[in-house]
Amino acid sequence: MGEYVNVAEIFGENVFNDTVMQERLPKKVYQKLKDIIEEGGDLDLATADVIAHEMKEWAIEKGATHYTHWFQPLTGVTAEKHDAFITAPLPSGKVLMSFSGKELIKGEPDASSFPSGGLRATFEARGYTAWDCTSPAFVRQDAAGATLCIPTAFCSYTGEALDQKTPLLRSMEAIDKQSMRLLRLFGNTSSKKVTPSVGPEQEYFLVDAEKFLQRKDLIYSGRTLFGAMPPKGQEMDDHYFGTIRQRIASFMKDVNIELWKLGVSAKTQHNEVAPAQHELAPIYAEANVAVDHNHIVMQTLKRVACQHGMKCLLHEKPFAGVNGSGKHNNWSITTDDGINLLDPGKTPHENIQFLLVLSCIIQAVDRHAGLLRESAADPGNDHRLGANEAPPAIISIFLGEQLEDVVEQLVSTGVATSSIRGGKLTTGVKSLPDLNKDATDRNRTSPFAFTGNKFEFRMVGSRDSIAGPNIVLNTIVAEAFSDACDILEKAEDFDEAVHDLIKKNFSEHQRIIFNGNGYSDEWVAEAERRGLPNIRSMVEAIPELTKKESVKMFEKFGVFTKAELESREEVKYENYTKTINIEAKTMIDMASKQIIPAVVKYTKVLADSINAVKAAGVNEVTVQKKLLEETSALLKQTQKSLNALIEAEAKANAMEEGKRQAKFYHEKVVMAMEELRVPVDELEMIVDKEMWPMPSYGDLIFEV
Ligand code: ADP
Ligand code: MG
Repeated sequence: MGEYVNVAEIFGENVFNDTVMQERLPKKVYQKLKDIIEEGGDLDLATADVIAHEMKEWAIEKGATHYTHWFQPLTGVTAEKHDAFITAPLPSGKVLMSFSGKELIKGEPDASSFPSGGLRATFEARGYTAWDCTSPAFVRQDAAGATLCIPTAFCSYTGEALDQKTPLLRSMEAIDKQSMRLLRLFGNTSSKKVTPSVGPEQEYFLVDAEKFLQRKDLIYSGRTLFGAMPPKGQEMDDHYFGTIRQRIASFMKDVNIELWKLGVSAKTQHNEVAPAQHELAPIYAEANVAVDHNHIVMQTLKRVACQHGMKCLLHEKPFAGVNGSGKHNNWSITTDDGINLLDPGKTPHENIQFLLVLSCIIQAVDRHAGLLRESAADPGNDHRLGANEAPPAIISIFLGEQLEDVVEQLVSTGVATSSIRGGKLTTGVKSLPDLNKDATDRNRTSPFAFTGNKFEFRMVGSRDSIAGPNIVLNTIVAEAFSDACDILEKAEDFDEAVHDLIKKNFSEHQRIIFNGNGYSDEWVAEAERRGLPNIRSMVEAIPELTKKESVKMFEKFGVFTKAELESREEVKYENYTKTINIEAKTMIDMASKQIIPAVVKYTKVLADSINAVKAAGVNEVTVQKKLLEETSALLKQTQKSLNALIEAEAKANAMEEGKRQAKFYHEKVVMAMEELRVPVDELEMIVDKEMWPMPSYGDLIFEV
């Protein structure tokens, strides 16, 4: 049954957390660091030296030989460069282990190969990593031994952000500042800081490693580019919340242990809708920690899967026709003394502060719906958003019956006098207790849903970093708070002004509220009538970044400069282009070197069989003949589509980098890829399974 795990004991054992710091650091040093973590400021070198020394001693006790600055460049994954703690050999031939304050707070990776979108001229390739002391350092144990990982921000010589973390921290400062203004208006004098909290639910697939390695598409692009549907898909709904199989259960156990040791509070795990699909959710944490932890979760899932002879697929759409994976980004804002600004209380209609906050969020999301949509755009998510499984590509807000009713009252009569109560849920079974019901049922189809005391942004892709969506959320809400405070701070009669503002916000932005079925065609038409944007693809979403309103807002709150936004736009086009290019080239490779040769062999088997049967004196060969004709026709179609894809890819590849090229890939290359897939998937249904050159969907998702 495996060894006994004492969770409370192992939790955080590999993290240089507050307890460790308090134990190890001299009191004064600890206090200084704590002040900086809470209030910001610069760390002097002498203090940094002491911290670095203690951190190193602690890490060495955990077996660490190396340290690395751990950062999040615009590649979507994390980056690290390891340095051993050793110094140059002494005359005695021995070495010392050293780690200085300077090495802790600043790193200088040769950064010329990270995407910068033109921010860094090639002659000025310097990039710096700077310690983010608000996210704790940790020791990671893996095949490389143990490594001290120091979460850092990454920026250029001139201070421009080259990563996801820097703007995230900036956006957290923005929302802190504007929320505090708002709280002060309501007479709150005790809270000192407001922080966004984030809890991401991570979906993923597991497949057998041996089978994975037989598929070049999975190896190179993380998703299947060919593949016919098996006789059984997810139609029985028997996988969702189903009993977890033993192989998977043992994998999950190891994942949890690893995560707990790293201070990640992995909490929920279950089977998801699609066969071989699962989910892991930690308990929410401060936004920047949650972003770091989500990267750790993704890396841990991958690493532990390998140890169990499996591969973890984080791609948004590994299998066509089977549900894809996303990441629900749960978001709320909380004061340092524990007040959640999104908590409506029992009678939301009387909770004026909550109503103002809510009306501001609604305003923010309506004003910047396109930007929020963009924050969830990545090449893989193009296969989900708007396709009948994930939320639609249209941003709307689900409030639920209770709040929608309050908004209704406010908009129509100017006052809200009641809140719908939840009541009791009676099961009709005497031995079961009656349960208190929530005031609102759930809605699974909304991209942005209020769920009790938080918003759940459901568009994010499973492989994507959650930094982007949270940067946008923090900033657009900071802007709405700031606008509200500008008005309210000047108001003569605060009560009247706040009442008018809430009503105005709700009235002007009510169009974004939608409580119905987001998957229906009627909603698409209705949203269009309401004037809501429906941005169907990544390529169409990217320009939202540099729209006038976006630039103005990001600059006002010091989150991005115009140059940084333009560079990100460029990086995104490049990322899209490269992704599709890899996929196209992989398809070309598989079709020409594996699929066509296999089908040719199969036609020979059929032809030989026809001849052999005839030679045996039997003239009835219609089945073989029909198969041969069908196969040959599809083979011809495959060859033709393959040539068309080769041509489209070559043309796209030769274009100048940028928006036009990305658009060409999106419109022409993707179409050519889809056209090649059609005859190949049909062939897979005909050709002898023994001769098909790779494992099928059935092999991959039902036989893990
Ligand atoms: P669901 O029923 O939505 O699938 P889960 O339990 O799978 O719920 O995940 C919900 C996530 O939301 C968890 O990560 C949880 O910690 C997080 N969460 C709960 N409350 C808050 C909050 N106030 N702010 C941010 N995240 C929260
Ligand atoms: Mg969940």
